[in-house]
Amino acid sequence: MIPRDIFRPAWDDDPIVSDWAGFPALERESTADVCVVGLGGSGLAAVADLLDRGVDVVGIDGGRIAAGAAGRNGGFLLGGPATFLHSALAAWGPCAVDLYRGTLAEIDSLEGLLGSGVVRRTGSIRLAGVPGAPIELADSEDCDALAQCLRENGIAVERYSSDLGHGIFLPDDAVMNPARRALGLASLFSGRARLYEHTPATAIEPGAVTTPNGAVRCGLVLVAVDGRLEQVLPQLDGRVRTARLQMLATSSITPGRLPCPVYGRWGYDYAQQDASGRLYVGGGRDLFAEDEWTPSGEPTAQVQNYIESVATSFAGEPVSVDARWAASVGFTADGRPLCTFVDDGVVAFGGYNGTGNLVGPVTARAAVALGLDAIAVPQYLSS
Ligand SMILES: Cc1cc2nc3c(=O)[nH]c(=O)nc-3n(C[C@H](O)[C@H](O)[C@H](O)COP(=O)(O)OP(=O)(O)OC[C@H]3O[C@@H](n4cnc5c(N)ncnc54)[C@H](O)[C@@H]3O)c2cc1C
Repeated sequence: MIPRDIFRPAWDDDPIVSDWAGFPALERESTADVCVVGLGGSGLAAVADLLDRGVDVVGIDGGRIAAGAAGRNGGFLLGGPATFLHSALAAWGPCAVDLYRGTLAEIDSLEGLLGSGVVRRTGSIRLAGVPGAPIELADSEDCDALAQCLRENGIAVERYSSDLGHGIFLPDDAVMNPARRALGLASLFSGRARLYEHTPATAIEPGAVTTPNGAVRCGLVLVAVDGRLEQVLPQLDGRVRTARLQMLATSSITPGRLPCPVYGRWGYDYAQQDASGRLYVGGGRDLFAEDEWTPSGEPTAQVQNYIESVATSFAGEPVSVDARWAASVGFTADGRPLCTFVDDGVVAFGGYNGTGNLVGPVTARAAVALGLDAIAVPQYLSS
């Protein structure tokens, strides 16, 4: 048993998040050119794109903005899709590099909008193994293969070696508090887009989104939900599958132990450290995969105990856990995110395979272009 009184995302301890005044719920009928359902990082990116085009937009979220994975994740802003670039290139062809470049451009764009206080350009470290554990040769060779592929495609990468371990450093990557990213974007749009919280879509059909206290009539619906997308749109069952990912946060350890976000053991285990010394740690989904194919967002003892051991490795000292949480993400069969019409005037996008902080916004722009301009989605997306 693990105590439930610390089940909450540690990101919400940031005063900008905990003091969030919020947007009202939708209480009456409304009309708009476009209705965006789901205001995580992806839905908010769609809102931004629509506003840039001068489109009249209503956005709704069933809970608080970024109530889902977008406000509960590791905060890593890593170039590329969930599949490492050399593997994505082999599976999808050269379009994988286009997606990689798109995600790097997204970091620049986010930094431009939110500033370097929210988007910190620290770079990231991929380790072969986790700190303190023996290096697995195949993991180390895969780091080398990734580095070579990045170099061949003109993407910055350096060898990394320290008492944390050995691997590669990717200087273009960044890190953030994900809840601050989402709320910061929503604040920027307030007054230009009509955004509503605590307004779940109970039915989505061409021309209308039904909510408990009023429908939104619109020409286009964009459904921007990653985890549990197949529950919102059952016709996507079989194309996306929901998994749970779990994290914890520790009390402060020695500040500066992690110079930037660090991920190891094929990227499955990861941690970042904030300026106060606190660690935010996740991982282990692959080790408990059967149990983690679930729409539940509740932390479990077996994964949390594993992540606690990962936290100790990354910390290099004993840790005390003060928050535990989980959230849902969507997976696809071939690793390419989904962006597709599900009905006339209804486009759905999601399925980022556990890495949607940047891929989600890139997909959102493709969804807007598909829905408004009938531009076919890039090959790195599944339509
Ligand atoms: C523990 C964890 C760690 C992760 N770490 C990273 C990481 O470090 N880097 C990275 O890139 N990715 C990471 N991810 C993945 C990333 O968080 C997601 O891919 C990304 O946040 C998806 O954002 P989204 O806006 O597409 O979807 P979501 O965050 O799922 O947002 C969808 C929104 O839709 C709302 N919604 C759902 N149904 C309805 C409805 N019927 N009506 C209205 N609103 C609805 C939800 O309330 C939610 O706010 C992690 C995920 C988890 C869970």
